[in-house]
Amino acid sequence: MFDYLIVGAGFAGSVLAERLATQADAKVLIIDQRDHIGGNAYDYFNTAGILVHKYGPHIFHTNSKEVFDYLSEFTPWRPYQHRVLASVDGQLVPMPINLNTINQMYGLNLSSDQLEDFFASKAVKVDRIKTSEDVVISKVGKELYEKFFRGYTRKMWDMDPSELDASVTARVPTRTNKDDRYFTDTYQAMPLHGYTRMFRKMLHHPNIKIMLNTDYKEIVEIIPFKKMIYTGPIDSYFNYCYGKLPYRSLEFKFETIDAEHFQSTGTINYPNEQPYTRITDFKYLTGQKHPKTAIVYEYPKAEGDPYYPVPKPENAELYKKYQQLATSMTNTYFTGRLATYKYYNMDQVVAQSLTLFKKIMQGEQETYGNGQKMSYSQS
Ligand code: FAD
Ligand code: UDP
Repeated sequence: MFDYLIVGAGFAGSVLAERLATQADAKVLIIDQRDHIGGNAYDYFNTAGILVHKYGPHIFHTNSKEVFDYLSEFTPWRPYQHRVLASVDGQLVPMPINLNTINQMYGLNLSSDQLEDFFASKAVKVDRIKTSEDVVISKVGKELYEKFFRGYTRKMWDMDPSELDASVTARVPTRTNKDDRYFTDTYQAMPLHGYTRMFRKMLHHPNIKIMLNTDYKEIVEIIPFKKMIYTGPIDSYFNYCYGKLPYRSLEFKFETIDAEHFQSTGTINYPNEQPYTRITDFKYLTGQKHPKTAIVYEYPKAEGDPYYPVPKPENAELYKKYQQLATSMTNTYFTGRLATYKYYNMDQVVAQSLTLFKKIMQGEQETYGNGQKMSYSQS
C-alpha cells in the first residue's frame, strides 16, 4: 500500500515526493504519462550531444532563499543571467525596454532622467490598470506598445492584450537604466548538469517508486494508496464537468547549428513579422562546451500539450468552480501550474509544493496528536 500516489513528475510532484519520502518516511508512487521525469523542465542531450530543453527554454530565477537552498540539495549551479534582444524595425534591441533600447531605436542620446520624461510624454492615462494593454500603454505609450507587445501577445495568446489580465505583460518591466538582464531576481542560475539530473537526484530514494508512460486513470483503481497528490490539469481531473479550461500550447522546432552560436544572445524575440515568438540558443543557457549549438523556435498554438493557463477574468471564474470541487476532497491535494491554473514560474511551483507539504504535515499532526512524530513506516 502506497501512502501517496503522486500524479505528475514535474516540479510540483517531485518536490512533494522528495519531502514526503525523506521527511515523513512515506511510501510514494510518482507517475507520469510521459516517458520521462522533470515535467516541462525536462532536458536531454540531442543526437549531436547538445543539452536541450524539450519543452522550451527554462531559465531558473528566484528571490526565495528557501527555494534556492532547497533545490541546492540536489544540484550544483552555474550562475547565468539571461539576456534577450527583440527584433524591431530591422534592429536588434534590448528587451525589456531600457535606456539603450530607446537610444538605439530612435538614434538619441538620452540620460535616464530624460528617458523618464520621454516615457511620461508618451504614456496614456489609464484610470484603473486592468488589462495587459493598460500595463504597457500607461508606461510607454501606444507606439512602443505596438512595436514590442501587441504583435507578440496576439501571436502568443491568439488574443489582443486588451483581453488579457494585466499580470501577463506585467511580467516584463520597463527600465530607464541600462540594465539589460531579463530577470533581476537575487538568485539566477542553471542546474550545472541540467534539470533532469537534478530531478533524478530528488527522486532517488528507497521510498519513491517511479512509473512512466502511464496515465493515472489506468492504475488508480488497481494500485492501492491512501492519498493522492494531483499536478495535472484540474479540469481533466473532474472530467471537464464545468467545461474546458483554456490552455495555450506551443510547437517547438529544434535545429542543430554547425557553429559555436547561432545568435548573439540567449533569446531573440520576434514580436512582429515572424510566425514564431522567439528563438533560443541553448548553449548560452547551459554553458556547455561544444563546437556546435542547438536552437529552438517557439510557435504558439491552441491545441496540444497544455503549457500556459490563460489569465483572463472568465477563466479565473471557471477555475474557481473547479477549485471548489478540489477543496471539498479530503484525500486529494492539488498543486502546480496546471492543477491550480496559475501562470507560475518554476520557483513559484516549488514554493507552492513546499507550502503544501507543510500543510499536509500539520494536518497529519492534528489527526495523530500533537507532539507525536508522524511516520508511515509501519504501513
Ligand atoms: P508540469 O511540469 O507540467 O508537470 C506536470 C506533469 O503531470 C507533466 O509531466 C504531465 O505529463 C503529468 N500529467 C498530467 N496529466 C497526467 C495524467 N493524467 N497522468 C499522468 N501524468 C500526468 N519557468 C521558469 O521559472 N523559468 C522559465 O524560463 C520558464 N520557461 C518556460 C518556457 C515554456 C515554453 C513553458 C511552457 C514553461 C516555462 N516555465 C518557466 C514554467 C515551468 O515550466 C513551470 O513552472 C513548471 O515546469 C511547472 O511544473 P509542474 O510540476 O506544475 O507542471
Ligand atoms: N511579451 C511581449 N513581447 C515580448 C516579450 C513578452 O509582448 O517581447 C508579453 C507576451 O504577452 C508574453 C508575456 O509578455 O506572453 C510574458 O512574457 P515572458 O517572456 O515572461 O513569457 P514566457 O517566458 O512565460 O513565455
